[in-house]
Amino acid sequence: MMIQQTDIVIIGAGPAGASAAALLRKKGHQVVILEKQHFPRFSIGESLLPQSMVFLEEAGLLDTVREHADRLNFQYKNGASFLRGQQRSFYDFREKFSEGPGTTWQVRRAAFDHLLANQAEKYGADIRYGHDVIAVDVASEHPILTVADEVGLEYQIQAKFLLDASGFGRVLPKKLDLESPSDFPIRRAIFTHIEDGILDDPNFDREKILISVHEKDRRAWYWLIPFADGRSSFGIVAEQDFFDAYGYTGDDSAEVLEALFKKILQDEPALSQVLSRATFDTPVRTLVGYSANVKHLAERNYALLGNAGEFLDPVFSSGVTIALKSSSLVVPLVEHVLQGQSVDWMQEYERPLRQGIQVFRAYVEAWYSGEFQDVVFSTNQQVQIREMISSLLAGYAWDVNNPIHKNAKRRLSVIAEYCREGLNIAPVLES
Ligand code: FAD
Repeated sequence: MMIQQTDIVIIGAGPAGASAAALLRKKGHQVVILEKQHFPRFSIGESLLPQSMVFLEEAGLLDTVREHADRLNFQYKNGASFLRGQQRSFYDFREKFSEGPGTTWQVRRAAFDHLLANQAEKYGADIRYGHDVIAVDVASEHPILTVADEVGLEYQIQAKFLLDASGFGRVLPKKLDLESPSDFPIRRAIFTHIEDGILDDPNFDREKILISVHEKDRRAWYWLIPFADGRSSFGIVAEQDFFDAYGYTGDDSAEVLEALFKKILQDEPALSQVLSRATFDTPVRTLVGYSANVKHLAERNYALLGNAGEFLDPVFSSGVTIALKSSSLVVPLVEHVLQGQSVDWMQEYERPLRQGIQVFRAYVEAWYSGEFQDVVFSTNQQVQIREMISSLLAGYAWDVNNPIHKNAKRRLSVIAEYCREGLNIAPVLES
């Protein structure tokens, strides 16, 4: 079999793959993207963070999103609201510690991902939809992939460098035995799109994602991500025992999941009130055990991007931002490889990428332990603290100047304590 040749092969045309391709094309490199599905295709994860705007701009992808945002009913977004029983709280991302954009959109991912991929294609990336990567050989200097095309015909392609942006497909982690268990408990998400029916509710701001904590079990929470056309993405996340207690049977058919979702919602008077006119009109789906990690993110001839590497948790909508950040970090290093220079992948890629992921991780852990919820719902938050938290929630997890990122876990504990006690936090942050 003749082996095709190219500069870079990317597995997957989601946000990580499309943005890496766009960046590489800007530098003039040949790029082939192998994408198993046909776009537009459904993907979960509709809430973007303002930090992602910086990476979209850098990749030359922001203009196309801006141009089509109204037509595709992307919802202008400027913050996050929180609800727990009668407690309400919100953060406005424009009032934040870090420099950079304070607004973004909530997007239907099928349309958003398609826009990015189309733009990468316009820049000259060769996207092969319906092409499934079935084998990978990275033993020689230039990796060789075996691919099944749309009609099942197999061919091989060799690249000078390989990027795995296969998301939950996790092609290289599975094929190269790179999987490493996530240290988060296994959680399940049940979700759908609804006609939300929310009209002029003074307690609801369409320009913010709404995160609601279950009244009786703070480990469970809901997202409500509005679009601009009266529809929303709506989901609930919890550990399995929570769903079992509501009668989950293992039957994942849409009708059974919808009944379960509605039954859980009945225990939520405040959220039920917001959604009192909502219509469930789209099949309800579920995903379980999506948190994932790998032993390492790169070697001399390949690197993992976005979800193909580490995925934490949906709670702070960090997924697409991390995916775009990984592309932004990796592309200059791939260039070095193509120019024959050596790259210290641990030092130059893995450490810097994981630095921000670790900050998100501290907040995710503190969310589920309840500590961060205590901060969010505290009426004693000083402006300074609010702005630092707003930065994190806006995705600026790599801002080393933000004092709450240094020893994030320990500092969060202290902040939670100070918020509970109503004390002045300034001296602690300066120390
Ligand atoms: P993906 O977008 O998953 O793209 C990977 C692509 O690779 C796919 O198109 C797939 O078809 C292709 N592929 C897979 N296997 C192969 C193969 N063998 N050959 C060829 N192609 C292949 N993130 C947010 O930013 N905001 C949110 O609100 C949010 N909510 C979430 C809620 C839940 C319940 C979950 C589980 C995740 C959520 N996320 C959210 C995370 C978000 O979905 C991902 O982080 C994001 O899609 C990652 O982008 P990616 O480009 O790495 O991968």
